[in-house]
Amino acid sequence: MAEIWQQTLNWQPTVQQQEQFQKLYELILEGNRQLNLTRITDPQEFWEKHLWDSLRGILPVLSGNLSLASPTIIDIGTGAGFPGVPVAMTLPNCTITLLDSTQKKITFLDNILTELALTNAKTLVGRAEEIGQYYKHRMAYDIALIRAVGAVSVCAEYTLPLLKQGGLAIIYRGNWTKDETTALQNAVKLLGGVIESIEQFTTPLSHSIRHCVYLRKVATTPVQFPRPIGVPTQKPL
Ligand code: SAH
Repeated sequence: MAEIWQQTLNWQPTVQQQEQFQKLYELILEGNRQLNLTRITDPQEFWEKHLWDSLRGILPVLSGNLSLASPTIIDIGTGAGFPGVPVAMTLPNCTITLLDSTQKKITFLDNILTELALTNAKTLVGRAEEIGQYYKHRMAYDIALIRAVGAVSVCAEYTLPLLKQGGLAIIYRGNWTKDETTALQNAVKLLGGVIESIEQFTTPLSHSIRHCVYLRKVATTPVQFPRPIGVPTQKPL
C-alpha cells in the first residue's frame, strides 16, 4: 500500500509502523472473538476503513514534519481504537487520550497499548458529557477526534468544550447533507466554534464517499456545555 499512502497522504509508514499496523490487525481479530469490536475483518477493508480513514482526517491538517508534530489529542468514543490508535502510531510525539464509555472496550485497548508498546497513548473510561466538565480535561486539547459516535451537533457538543482556544475538532462522517450544515452552524455558534471546512473525498480502494468536518474553537464554550449525560443526544442543539 506504500504507493497509495504516498499518493493520497504524501506520507509512508516506516517498517516499524507497518509492523505495528499488522500487529494491530491481528490483535483486533483476536479481540473480536470475545468482544463485538468491529464488523470489518477483511484485510483490505481493515486497511481502508480503519487505517487509511483514521489517518486521512488528520494528517493533511498537520503540515510539515510529522515526527515533530506534538499536539495533545483526544479521541472521543474510540471503540476499538479508531481513529486514535493509528494516529498514536503515526505521530510518535503526540499525546493521545482514548476515551470510551464502555469499560470492556477500554480494557481491550489497555492490552493493545501494552502489546504495541504505545507509550504516547492512554485510555480513559467515561462519558464525553462528564469529561467535558472536568477541570483536567476541559480546554486541555489541541485536537479532538470523533468518528461514528452520533449526530453531528452531538459531536460538536462533545468535542468543542475539550479544546483549547484555537484548537481543532475533526468529525469523521460518511455521507453529508446541506441540512446537516445548517443544523451544525447553529450548534457550533452556541459552543464557541466555527465551521472551518467540510471536505469530501473518496476512499482509495472501494471509492466510498467520506466527509471530514473541521471545527475551530474561537471562543470559550459556555459552562452549561456539554449538557448532562444523554441530553446532547435527546435534545440536539
Ligand atoms: N470511533 C470508533 C467506534 C465507534 S462506535 C470507530 O469509528 O470505529 C461508538 C463508540 O462510542 C462506542 O464504543 C461507544 O461506547 C462510545 N460512546 C458513545 N457515546 C459516548 C459518550 N457519550 N461518551 C464516550 N463514549 C461514547
